[in-house]
Formats: sequence, structure tokens, C-alpha cells
Amino acid sequence: MSTDIKSYIRTIPDFPKEGIMFRDVTTLFSDPRGFRMAVDQIVQPFAGQRIDQVVGLEARGFILGGAVAHQLSAGFVPVRKKGKLPGKRLSEDYTLEYGQETVEIHEDAFQPGEKVLLVDDLLATGGTAEAGIRLIERLGGDIVGCAFVIDLPDIGGRARLEQLGMDVHCLCE
Ligand code: 5GP
Repeated sequence: MSTDIKSYIRTIPDFPKEGIMFRDVTTLFSDPRGFRMAVDQIVQPFAGQRIDQVVGLEARGFILGGAVAHQLSAGFVPVRKKGKLPGKRLSEDYTLEYGQETVEIHEDAFQPGEKVLLVDDLLATGGTAEAGIRLIERLGGDIVGCAFVIDLPDIGGRARLEQLGMDVHCLCE
């Protein structure tokens, strides 16, 4: 756990709506030292392990996931919001505070049995990550771990993913 990463993340009050404290990682990504530190720390627990594919969750998971995949010499697979992927795809619905969201993955994104690392910027309820996990598992992926820059521990996403048997890594709370 690093306290240093936190110093690159800013909090924007009342975004996207009143009462929400939005943790903004664009300031982490735009700082050369901060971005390298975040990518290095995500990769570190998995160094030397076989990882075939990094799956990134739209949209900030793409920025991190691409860099992590490069460093692990793995492929990169996007999990996208509904209607964005051009090929044949699998879908998973999940519940948000208000309403529903759907995420999708290409059905030929990787081969059954491949070792997969799931990456996103922030873990809150864990609903988005769980939908990603279901997609990966439907394709027969073997999930080695789930990595996030930020965990919001009071909201319970980490416990939710751990109950699913996931190895969860977060850089800060
Ligand atoms: P969850 O599904 O765990 O409740 O929410 C996590 C998802 O919402 C992630 O994809 C994350 O990018 C996004 N998210 C929710 N709140 C924030 C926030 O305060 N900052 C950032 N950067 N992303 C957030």
C-alpha cells in the first residue's frame, strides 16, 4: 500500500452530481512519475507469473490496462459499455444506484484457459468489476487477480470480489 500514489489523485466535489466526491485520476495519469509508479505497482505482484491477457474496464481501465499489458508482455482486451464493440460479443447487465448498465466483451477475445488480470482505476461497489469477471469466466478465462488504483473500503467492493474467490490488489484507499 502506497501513500505516495494518493498525492497524485485529486478529489472533485459534486461530480457527476451533487454530494458525490469524485476521485480524479487524470492528475495521476498526466504525471510521468505518478503514472509509472501506478503501473509498476499494479504489475509488481504478478511479475514472474504467467499472464496472457489484461482485461481493462472502460474507460480508465483502458489507460492503465494497456500500459500494464505492455509491461507484462500480455495482450489487452477491452470490456466496453453496450454497443461499442463491433464483433460478436457477450453481454452482462449489472445494477447501479439508479438503473442498469451493460458491459460487453468480444466472444473470441481470448482462448479458454488463458490467464487473465482484470484492471480498473477504482473499486466502489464492485458491480462493474463483477460484471467483467462474469464475462471473463463465460469465456473460460482463468482470473489470476483483480487490480485497482483506488479502493473505497466503506462501500464493500473488495469484500464482494473476495467472496467470489478473487485475489484483489489495490494501491490505495
Ligand atoms: P463500482 O461498479 O465498483 O460501484 O464502480 C466502479 C466503476 O465506476 C469504475 O469503472 C470506476 O471507473 C467508476 N467510478 C465510480 N466512482 C468513481 C470515482 O470517484 N472516480 C473514478 N475515477 N471512477 C469512479
